[in-house]
Amino acid sequence: MTPEQFRQCGHQAIDWVADYLAQPQRYPVLARVQPGELTDALPARGPEQGEPPECLLADFERLILPAVTHWNHPGFMAFFANSGSAPGILGELLASALNLNGMLWKSSPAVVELEQVTLRWLRQWTRLPEDWFGQIFDTASVGSMHALAAAREAADPNSRAKGTASDLVVYTSEQAHSSIEKGAIAIGIGQERVRKVPVDAEFRLRPDALAEMIDRDVAAGLRPCAVAATVGTTATTSVDPVPAIAEICRARNIWLHVDAAYAGSAAVAEEFRWALAGCEHADSMVTNPHKWMFTPVDCSAFYTSRPDVLRRAFSLVPDYLATAEDPRAVNLMDYGVPLGRRFRALKLWFVMRSYGREGIAGLIREQIRVVQSLAAKIDAHPRFERTAPTPFSTVCFRYQGTDDENRQIQERVNETGEFFISGTKLHGRFTLRLAIGNMATTQTHVDRVWELIQAEAAKLAR
Ligand code: PLP
Repeated sequence: MTPEQFRQCGHQAIDWVADYLAQPQRYPVLARVQPGELTDALPARGPEQGEPPECLLADFERLILPAVTHWNHPGFMAFFANSGSAPGILGELLASALNLNGMLWKSSPAVVELEQVTLRWLRQWTRLPEDWFGQIFDTASVGSMHALAAAREAADPNSRAKGTASDLVVYTSEQAHSSIEKGAIAIGIGQERVRKVPVDAEFRLRPDALAEMIDRDVAAGLRPCAVAATVGTTATTSVDPVPAIAEICRARNIWLHVDAAYAGSAAVAEEFRWALAGCEHADSMVTNPHKWMFTPVDCSAFYTSRPDVLRRAFSLVPDYLATAEDPRAVNLMDYGVPLGRRFRALKLWFVMRSYGREGIAGLIREQIRVVQSLAAKIDAHPRFERTAPTPFSTVCFRYQGTDDENRQIQERVNETGEFFISGTKLHGRFTLRLAIGNMATTQTHVDRVWELIQAEAAKLAR
């Protein structure tokens, strides 16, 4: 591609993006393709000769777009909906143009230092301790795996050389995200040594049960290694009682990790700072700007109050990567598995500066308000019930019928192409789940999806 071709296609691509962001609802929210359809539409082998740039853009529209589920669509209310906002997209564009690799400070000072600065700002916005060390990973799953590896190092300094001892145990609630269990699998603790602590009626980890489980394991000769609490669980967004959990960990010298992948962002708004209460006592924490801070995937903030332990667990410097020591020239490769590091901080910086703390807090606040108003309507409806408290912008509820009937409602709403809602199981029963995190989603969209849900339920009642 010549520079002139790049300029031309680049303008075309930016025009496409601008139109897309203005009107993502031009497309059905859910991809309407069968599994394998895109694969079958694409050549089985890569091209021998280069193809002209116009072909690439044309095939993007013709072949790729039909296979896209539109996370930027205002009707996307599944999983944890989010927006890859315009400033973040520009940050991504420039980051890929620079194509930096921030494995060492020297390999790209901007990557390393902007990462430290944006994470410092985020810490301030959410009132986390000033002295925490931060780095950006692709996902919370990878961040939590690193937290467990640091916890393993703290509990058993032999683990780095000898491998994971078979007596280490990790604790998390039965509502925790699967990434905690996967992290334990990845670092060799093993699934059987992940204790699932029961939750209370509001889906929060029960500290009494945690303490009991830990003490029982200690009496049996096992070594508790880490507790992972959740601020904003995946199914219901419940918030574990972190202050009480922190007290248990402190008294028993156990690493406390907090998974605030979703709800950590809520603390940007003053009135939701309660969500991170007690997190100042954590040894590590993850929160995802790519979940609820309008930053394009991938951007997960990982913090630890004990970077020395993380470094002990991971620092391994071959001769070809050795550089002079300087306390301000942080080599992030010393603090985890990845060597290569994308310039993720650039998009976060663009988002933070473009909206400011107040702008982001305002968006989050409005999304919570809209969902709370829906929760009140659900409560007032004679044939629907909420199945969990609604602390943030995700509501779980069900039609008072069978699981199949609720699944039918979900399927029919999703078939309209206007909305994508998800479901989960609570107390063994299927429940509908609607999550608002997309900046394009307004009261009107939420009113409309509620109308559709009620209409589908009315059809079932006939
Ligand atoms: N933790 C929680 C509470 C989540 O809800 C999720 C995903 O939804 C994750 C962790 C995993 O996030 P990631 O996709 O960044 O690994």
